[in-house]
Amino acid sequence: MQDVVEKVYEQVVARNHGEAEFHQAVREVLESLGPVIAKHPHYAEDGLLERIVEPERQIMFRVPWVDDAGAVHVNRGFRIEFNSALGPYKGGLRFHPSVNAGIIKFLGFEQIFKNALTGQGIGGGKGGSDFDPHGRSDAEVMRFCQSFMTELSRHIGPNTDVPAGDIGVGGREIGYLFGQYKRLRNSYDAGVLTGKGLAWGGSLARTQATGYGTVLFAQSMLATKGDSLEGKRVAVSGAGNVAIYAIEKAQQLGAKPITFSDSSGYVVDEAGVDLELLKQVKEVERGRVADYASRRPGARLVTEGRPWDVPVDVALPCATQNELDADSATTLLRNGCAVVAEGANMPSTPEAIEAFHAAGILYAPGKASNAGGVATSALEMEQNAGRTRWDFATAEAKLTGIMADIHDSCVEAAETYGRPGDYVLGANAAGFTRVADVMIAHGIV
Ligand code: NDP
Repeated sequence: MQDVVEKVYEQVVARNHGEAEFHQAVREVLESLGPVIAKHPHYAEDGLLERIVEPERQIMFRVPWVDDAGAVHVNRGFRIEFNSALGPYKGGLRFHPSVNAGIIKFLGFEQIFKNALTGQGIGGGKGGSDFDPHGRSDAEVMRFCQSFMTELSRHIGPNTDVPAGDIGVGGREIGYLFGQYKRLRNSYDAGVLTGKGLAWGGSLARTQATGYGTVLFAQSMLATKGDSLEGKRVAVSGAGNVAIYAIEKAQQLGAKPITFSDSSGYVVDEAGVDLELLKQVKEVERGRVADYASRRPGARLVTEGRPWDVPVDVALPCATQNELDADSATTLLRNGCAVVAEGANMPSTPEAIEAFHAAGILYAPGKASNAGGVATSALEMEQNAGRTRWDFATAEAKLTGIMADIHDSCVEAAETYGRPGDYVLGANAAGFTRVADVMIAHGIV
């Protein structure tokens, strides 16, 4: 790391004690900025780097709620409004027991550059709670969401901060959150949340967008080598929103996804994933991946190890951060994997990324390859503002165009800064320069 960025990194570590994921995300971005600052030293002036690593606002609040048996629970809620240079803060809400300030901060920081890469007018933010929706009844999830929104509603708005879903927050949760917001404000501000139901302001293709976009990005990377996904064996991790629609798009493009996972293990289905059964188990029944394995002849559940142990051509990590480490990377490379596109946020550890770069394979960081979700959320905001609704083909065509543009910006920036084919440098440099130029225009704020 260059001296000037090293100093900023050290300050981040000292000021944000114990927030390992946030340190990791900042380090990855700052490491990429060496060649950018060498070429354009003004980006290191006026405290710009110091400002970009400090959230504009951090909100932390108590979320009390009552379970079905009458017991009171107290969770912690977070919203990190990180950077509004390009537009209202935009980023999802995560409900998972592992959530803490450092996790939300890393996600918010990544979101700044991801949102910049989409070319749309959206700033970066993220939020969530350490609430675990697993095993909770609909009524309990509703009461939790209502309590969470009672505080969050003071801080958000269609022109201020526009949350969406993430791990543990899907259509059901967005519905309860929107219902409570509307009741508190006495105002039908459809544009305050994205990922809404189709009957009340949602956009077609939003559900599919992150998974589809990730696979489209992988296809664009392969195209630079005159190759495609046709006939490729694919390992996917996760079995949630991103994983399911990554599998769907990969199948549409002629590839053969053979794995998916949740926190109880992973399934290997050598015949190719039966998507209808997977959707039934995960989306309709809210079941576990074991339920798929028990109903699908030939599929097996593996409770030790990771999907990355299965020999594949393409890996799509779509579950959570740091789920693909150096050992997994070595196994993937040994088995001939030549493409990794991240559907999740920061799923590969720094050591895994180093191994991918050393091997010279095609590797896409999540802030570029999973940007289709937030891009389509911004399209949802656009439809809400215009009180209109596009058909699926229109929304998907826009998503496809945005993903192609993000891919090309990464390729171009990597070439400009002297490391062709390095999508990490490309994504960080292209995202950073867009935000930094606007921060400079706005003065020291
Ligand atoms: P979901 O809640 O729909 O699904 C998450 C999946 O990952 C589940 O199968 C879950 O298993 C598994 N998972 C989560 N945490 C862990 C863990 N600690 N260990 C093992 N498995 C785990 O979330 P999404 O699909 O929406 O999100 C997945 C990833 O994609 C996240 O990193 C998210 O930040 C990222 N992302 C999502 C976007 C979106 O539009 N939804 C946009 C951009 C990025 P289990 O049920 O057992 O916990």
